[in-house]
Amino acid sequence: MERRGQGTGTGLTVARARDLAPRLVQWYRVHARDLPWRHRRDPYAIWVSEVMLQQTRVEAVVGRYQAFLRQFPDLPALAAAEPAEVLAAWAGLGYYRRARQMHAAARAVLGESGGSLPSTAAMLRLLPGFGAYTAGAVASIAFDEPVPAVDGNVERVLSRLLALPGDPARGEAARTVRSAAQRLVECEPPHLLNQALMELGALVCTPRSPRCAECPWQDSCAANATGSPESFPRKPPPRESVAVTAYAAIQRDPHGLFWRRRPEGGHNAGLWELPTTPWHGGAPDERRARQLLSELGRELGQEWTVGEPVVRVRHGITHHRITVVGYGVDGPRRPLTPDLAWADPADADALGLTAAASKLLRKLPTLL
Ligand code: SF4
Repeated sequence: MERRGQGTGTGLTVARARDLAPRLVQWYRVHARDLPWRHRRDPYAIWVSEVMLQQTRVEAVVGRYQAFLRQFPDLPALAAAEPAEVLAAWAGLGYYRRARQMHAAARAVLGESGGSLPSTAAMLRLLPGFGAYTAGAVASIAFDEPVPAVDGNVERVLSRLLALPGDPARGEAARTVRSAAQRLVECEPPHLLNQALMELGALVCTPRSPRCAECPWQDSCAANATGSPESFPRKPPPRESVAVTAYAAIQRDPHGLFWRRRPEGGHNAGLWELPTTPWHGGAPDERRARQLLSELGRELGQEWTVGEPVVRVRHGITHHRITVVGYGVDGPRRPLTPDLAWADPADADALGLTAAASKLLRKLPTLL
């Protein structure tokens, strides 16, 4: 097979980019999936899709995206919403920080420019939640600005195309990927080129089993030429996971369960949970559980008697493996603050729950 100017570990020349970009876009025109956000060039709708798709599978996003746009059809509608409404509309998608930042950005845009998103990546990056990827994706797809949009898919495809010897998320390899993406996006309409690159990574150049025989770049790809394209990108060994334990207070009365909203500035800020202590390293420890839950109760203005452990779930956050043990607690009803609530378990999902609280709740009905 003829190989067109490929090399291992080197960047992409302008001449190669001019050869590769049209082939990729032609492939995209034939094979692109019919996804709801591809029917519109409305910057707000494109922004919503890009935020939802970060760290979330396309299949999970499709239904939620349409429901979100029905509830918040344009940027002013999102800006006018209460934070709790936005979080509830995001329920199930996880990574709630994305929703909070999108809401903050919508309010900033409405205040500064009357409701129109800025049209360049550089201006978008000044808004909350816009990193290099999201700014590049929105600017190129909605406004055809020739800027790269490098997500995990694009890193993988380009590090294979060039058989980069380093981790494409860091250092020299990351700079090479970005410069290759820039050269490619200057050769075709940016909204097509960037989406085509992402689509190639999602459908053909997949993480474990790239389907090189179906790839428009097969005869130019340096990783394919090595015979083991799946061994790219080169990644550092994963961080070792750490076991930690937290304790949740399960207080119930005839009206439901006792909930608290996570404080601002910390993990899962603004979401609701069965009040949960900070983590400690290692396995569950009953003495420590009682001490931490009593301290948490005092912090929340409650007088709890800590009972017995009733439920246990496992949960992962980054490299932490968290065991959450729920203890029954008892005590008099105290006046509520805006961050404390009683709610029936059947209604609790509408509050916008942490992932750990959702898991606890799924196990609890059999115990209530
Ligand atoms: Fe990925 Fe294979 Fe295409 Fe190379 S030829 S870009 S490894 S699918």
